This record gives sequence, structure tokens and C-alpha cells, in this order.
Amino acid sequence: MKEHIQSDKDFSEGFNLCKNINKIVVGRGNPRAKIMIIGEAPGAKEEEMGKPFVGRSGKFLDQFIQNVGLDTRQDVYFCNVIKCRPPKNRRPTKSEIQEHLPWLFQQIKLINPEIIVLVGSTASEAILKNKLPISIIRGKWINWEGRLVMPIFHPAYLLRNQSKEDGAPMSVTKSDFLKIKEKIDTLK
Ligand code: URA
Repeated sequence: MKEHIQSDKDFSEGFNLCKNINKIVVGRGNPRAKIMIIGEAPGAKEEEMGKPFVGRSGKFLDQFIQNVGLDTRQDVYFCNVIKCRPPKNRRPTKSEIQEHLPWLFQQIKLINPEIIVLVGSTASEAILKNKLPISIIRGKWINWEGRLVMPIFHPAYLLRNQSKEDGAPMSVTKSDFLKIKEKIDTLK
């Protein structure tokens, strides 16, 4: 398999949100990784580079991954629910999410990860089909379609809430990544 599932403009033409953009953002990382990280949608940097999670949030997320001894190129594959940047970085609408979901499901099937990490509420709601607050479901293992899924806080939220206190979003996210590392070690 190619290192990335290639951006495919023809494929994106049926998607309303993608009609007026130059680049779609499909994935980065190892397509054979056991961990798939799913975010909301590309931002400006991601659109420019054609890769997910390469802006400020992505770099912050990389640090959590590296801090538990995982390699961002080998051990994970990153993608988003939405494959092109919503205007002015607004949240994707419900119908845009519905339109893009079959593409994400296809991507999950191809990558075939054992663990899926859902970054933030858009990705969590899109996959888990519930509206439980991310502060309640984060850090919990959920069985979804035979795969282990864990929602976590979005790095953009963590960037705005950098308190190092016990129980604060930063510290619980560190422990979420430790759980992910422990789990992946048991699956080896
Ligand atoms: N970059 C992405 O690719 N996805 C997000 O959800 C946030 C930043």
C-alpha cells in the first residue's frame, strides 16, 4: 500500500464541501499502524500541506504521542472525519459529516487499526453517535464495530487549557496516552 491513501480529487467531487478547494487532506503516518487517530477536519496548515494534524494542534498532539514512547511515523495513522477545510475553520455541519462518513469508514476498513483514538467531540459524536460530553467519555475504552476506541480531548482545547494540575485536561490526556501505550503493548 502507498504511504498515504492518495488525495483523490475525482473522488471528492461528489462532496459539497470539497467542490471549491484545491487540496483534500486524507491521511498521514503509517497505513499499517495499529493506532488510527481521527480528528475533526483540516485547518489552514493541513490544507496547505495536504496532511492532517501538521499545524499547531497537530504538533501538540505529536508531543503526547512521543512522550509515551510511540513513533508518530511508525505507530500511528492520522486522518479526519472531514477531508477538506470548512470555510473559516467553522465546525462541519451534520450533513457534511454524514456525507463524509462513508469515506472515513472505507479508510478505517483499509487501515484496519486495532485502536481508534477519537480526537475531540466532532469525531467522537460522528463515530459513536452519542452526544455525551467529551469530558465524560474521554479516557474510556469503548467497543465499536469490534475495535477498541478511546475518545480524548482535542489538542486545540488543551492548548487553551494548559494547567498542569492533577485532574486538569493536560494531565488526564497524558494518562489517556499512557493507557493507549499500555494497550498497544498488550496487543503486540
Ligand atoms: N488538524 C487536523 O487535521 N484535524 C483537527 O481536528 C485539528 C487540526
